[in-house]
Amino acid sequence: MLDYSHNFHIVKPTLGVFLLGDTTLSQLKDEISNFEYEKYIKNLRYSEEASRSDLAVYEAPNPFIQNWVKTKYSEKIAHLFEMNTGVKPEVNIILSTEKKSVPKKVMLNEYKQQKSTILNPSYTFDAFVVGSSNQLAYEVSQTVCAKQGLAFNPLLLYGGTGLGKTHLLNAIGNHAITKQKSVIYITSEQFLNDWQFHIRNQTMDRFREKYRACDYLLIDDVQFFGGKERIQEEFFHTFNELHSKNRQIILTSDKPPKKIAGLEERLKSRFEWGLVADIQPPELETKIAIIKKKCEFDGIYLDREIIDYIATNMDNNIREIEGIIIKLNAFANLMNQDITLEFAKNILKEQIKEKKESITIDDIISVVSKELNIKPSEIKSKSRSTQIANARRIVIYLARNLTPNSMPALAHYFGMKDHSSVSKAMKKVQELLNGSADFKIVVDELKNKISSKE
Ligand code: ADP
Ligand code: MG
Repeated sequence: MLDYSHNFHIVKPTLGVFLLGDTTLSQLKDEISNFEYEKYIKNLRYSEEASRSDLAVYEAPNPFIQNWVKTKYSEKIAHLFEMNTGVKPEVNIILSTEKKSVPKKVMLNEYKQQKSTILNPSYTFDAFVVGSSNQLAYEVSQTVCAKQGLAFNPLLLYGGTGLGKTHLLNAIGNHAITKQKSVIYITSEQFLNDWQFHIRNQTMDRFREKYRACDYLLIDDVQFFGGKERIQEEFFHTFNELHSKNRQIILTSDKPPKKIAGLEERLKSRFEWGLVADIQPPELETKIAIIKKKCEFDGIYLDREIIDYIATNMDNNIREIEGIIIKLNAFANLMNQDITLEFAKNILKEQIKEKKESITIDDIISVVSKELNIKPSEIKSKSRSTQIANARRIVIYLARNLTPNSMPALAHYFGMKDHSSVSKAMKKVQELLNGSADFKIVVDELKNKISSKE
């Protein structure tokens, strides 16, 4: 049984930063009426444990005071903090978890959960769609939940923007707090800010106490540490201390540790001690499943053909896809009309037009030749071998659909007689698409890969 009693007890500090929470409130006295102060502000309690240099958390005794303070005073409180520290924090008013009569153990759990205010509660394992692109990352994330500190330590997840790293990191945190573990979720940038703040206030002992006592330390986007030597030094010691106590460390990055420029060798090697798992861009099927899940979650209905359209035409950044779904729904509500394919095409027009302008025939040739295992030079040649001629037709079809090139421009590019040859090739591909579901899948997947080029 782990002993959390040292964690539970909140020492009322006497120095610097830890008085700031209360000091700031007393400064408010000068700005508001005595009545307001007595009725609302006096009832707040600064939560030192949940706060960071860029996040000030106060507990309110009931929802009424919570909402009132949130809407009326949080901006003022943030401003006063800024005057005191030079950093304007986000101010969060949460409901007090203290209930005088509950036994200590329950209070401990509640207290620990309160720390999780920074985790996003909707990023859970259940809400995560698994496909071959992210299966490894998903499974190892679950493993570290089951075998805290003993399976892979650290676990480092890496991959491109919007592919679900932060989601999985939060899913681990959300799961851990249900097991009464203490969790710190923080971006590497916030970690740096917090560290600088504690240095300025000469409270490094508090900083170390906080980060070295948790069960799970989740640090998002560690590539940000690159080139920042002093924070790497500090993190190196935090890492060693937690690791030696089998506390679980989970990191995310937009690239593998080896490729993080300006990251010290000793950190690179530590980041690879446990397991490094990548998240790849989703295949079309996974993308479709994610869109369906998001629609379900937001209570939005989209026809299958619209979902397909979004999946094949938008790139792989799921955050952007979510944005489009919300935009579609908002416009449909505003205009009081159903979401039809035409409507969706119209809304997505700008985004897709921008993309069209950035796709070139060479991009298409490069994807098609790679996927169909044919050399680019063969596609551009006049070879009549069936396989090559087919690949060439597909390239022409995709180029006409995904780039702004006209038929005569394509004829010129491929050294064809005139636009009628291009038209013939397009017709042939269309016939195949109408006749074969398998062929359609191949072409859709090619479109997906081309649309999501970086
Ligand atoms: P990253 O941190 O890799 O940039 P995020 O984790 O912030 O990406 O993901 C961006 C958005 O896409 C989030 O809203 C997340 O919920 C969603 N998302 C990404 N991958 C998936 C997935 N496999 N299933 C469900 N939602 C996903
Ligand atoms: Mg992220």
